[in-house]
Amino acid sequence: TNTMTNVLEQLGIKETNPAYSTGLVWGGHNGKQTREIYSPADGNLIAAVTMADAAAYEQVVKQAQEAFTYWRKQPAPKRGEIVRQVGNKLRENKEALGKLVSYEMGKILQEGLGEVQEMIDICDFAVGLSRQLHGLTMHSERPEHRMYEQYHPVGIVGVISAFNFPVAVWSWNAMLAAVCGDVIIWKPSEKTPLTAIACQHIIKEVLAENELPEGIFNLIIGDAEIGSLMAHDKRIPLVSATGSTRMGKKVGEAVGARLGKSLLELGGNNAIIITEHADLEMALRAVVFGAVGTCGQRCTSTRRLIVHENVYEQVKERLLKIYPNLPIGHSLDNTTLVGPMIDKDAVEAFKAALAAVQQEGGNLITGGEVLSGKGYETGTYVTPAIVEAENHFDMVQEETFAPILYLIRYSGDVENAVELQNGVRQGLSSAIFSTNLLETEAFLSHWGSDCGIANVNIGTSGAEIGGAFGGEKETGGGRESGSDAWKVYMRRQTNTINFGRQLPLAQGIKFDI
Ligand code: NAD
Repeated sequence: TNTMTNVLEQLGIKETNPAYSTGLVWGGHNGKQTREIYSPADGNLIAAVTMADAAAYEQVVKQAQEAFTYWRKQPAPKRGEIVRQVGNKLRENKEALGKLVSYEMGKILQEGLGEVQEMIDICDFAVGLSRQLHGLTMHSERPEHRMYEQYHPVGIVGVISAFNFPVAVWSWNAMLAAVCGDVIIWKPSEKTPLTAIACQHIIKEVLAENELPEGIFNLIIGDAEIGSLMAHDKRIPLVSATGSTRMGKKVGEAVGARLGKSLLELGGNNAIIITEHADLEMALRAVVFGAVGTCGQRCTSTRRLIVHENVYEQVKERLLKIYPNLPIGHSLDNTTLVGPMIDKDAVEAFKAALAAVQQEGGNLITGGEVLSGKGYETGTYVTPAIVEAENHFDMVQEETFAPILYLIRYSGDVENAVELQNGVRQGLSSAIFSTNLLETEAFLSHWGSDCGIANVNIGTSGAEIGGAFGGEKETGGGRESGSDAWKVYMRRQTNTINFGRQLPLAQGIKFDI
């Protein structure tokens, strides 16, 4: 706890007890409700935050609107310079912020540090992008005409984020949106507001050093109600929402009803296919990282393992040796590989899913217990579970946000495996382990995986920022991060310019007056 006090202090979170208030607009000066934040790792109270109300929300939107009129006039590379400085501040604070992510959310320190590294990477990417943001030029059908397209900022971008990537998802959105000339209002998960406040302190310093208004990057601490205000708000042309499919349907509907744009990053039900031609040792490392990493609480966590019958028993046997020996413990302990779940509700959902899938005929072969005793007093520690199941079971069709791996057998050729892999409502991440080119290419072909992410000899989780991230079907269809994902944060304008002295009409239409 001593080092945690230092961490909080470095990140500008000074008071820890009893009711911590930022005293700044993002918490709302007069917010009546406070929320206490306990670490899922040891149950200690880290801090309490004031929750914003509708009045505080109004204030934030006004502040953002005002900042936009200034920010959009800055040249994009100048905006990139600010993002470069944010990246550098994140580098300076990587250790501290990574620790706080780990302590507040419960992912192990390595993953907490990885999350901050991802933020640094996206800053670098966005800086380069700030000198691109390019449109195309086209040849006009009319003489002495020129046609091209350009991209302009959209305005306020609302970012609603989930607890499991409490800071990286914001940075994917915010850093791109910022170089695009937009201003951002971020509503983090109510379960992880402290890491968000820490980020805002970093942002605030950079903005102050450059004499820029804080309204460029806004933070509002609130729950689903504030998220809903954002979804319905016509002043927010783009809402980027990350979380459950249930939430995404509500946000998508509200934004759609006002014909706004939404970028949805929702649940996954990701599978790894292991064919009889797989390098099994490599596959197993990927499976275990994918299934138990972040205690099964990544959108890209491996939830289904589709294994060829010829290697099924071998894979099962190896997993049964590995799983009982996984070190489960405090997220900040260097020897831990499996940290806690976010809270007791998540543990209840884990238990309920295991009970339900066994009712359907699933066979629990390891794990599934809630740990108690020394070091596990919080009730948030579980042993990762493996269940032999069938793909069509109701529970297997669901995303349970917990470390449950469903073991599914297939026979025949790889197309049968792909059919199972695609046979769910979600379409985020997928992977195949095989050293056979015919199998891997079939998996990647247009009749192969239907997911936004399809990997070969790599697991389902742990994407790099350079590619576009997101998925199909109930995952929501949004793309964030690399490639040309930036385009969603801008509006496209087509410009046709006549540099002649005639006014020819397109399609040769004659209209003489
Ligand atoms: P959640 O849906 O409970 O909450 C996510 C965010 O939405 C929170 O900030 C919450 O306050 C807000 N929210 C909830 N209901 C809302 C509503 N009606 N209107 C507006 N906002 C609302 O999700 P969670 O438990 O925090 O996160 C886990 C889920 O997130 C999983 O389903 C996971 O797959 C998904 N996820 C997806 C991605 C991705 O990129 N596809 C990334 C991370 C997490």
